[in-house]
Amino acid sequence: MTCHQCERTAAGICRFCGRALCPDHFKTRPFIMAAMPGKNGSISVLPVEDALHCGICHPHDDFVELPPPAAAT
Ligand SMILES: [Zn+2]
Ligand SMILES: [Zn+2]
Repeated sequence: MTCHQCERTAAGICRFCGRALCPDHFKTRPFIMAAMPGKNGSISVLPVEDALHCGICHPHDDFVELPPPAAAT
C-alpha cells in the first residue's frame, strides 16, 4: 500500500476517510471515539487527541443530525 500523496510506502490510514499515508503526509486531529448522552441533556464524548488525518478530507467538527429511519410497515 502506498501513500495517497506520493509513491512511498504508507505508514498509516486516515481515521476519517481511509486514505493511506506516509509519515511525511499524515497529520493529526482530534477524533471522537464515542459519544453518549450526558447529564442535563448534554452529550459526553470520548475524544482521541491525535488520530491520524490525511489533511485532505474535511470531517465535521460537530454531530450531524440524521432524520429518523422510516418506520417499517
Ligand atoms: Zn506521502
Ligand atoms: Zn482523510
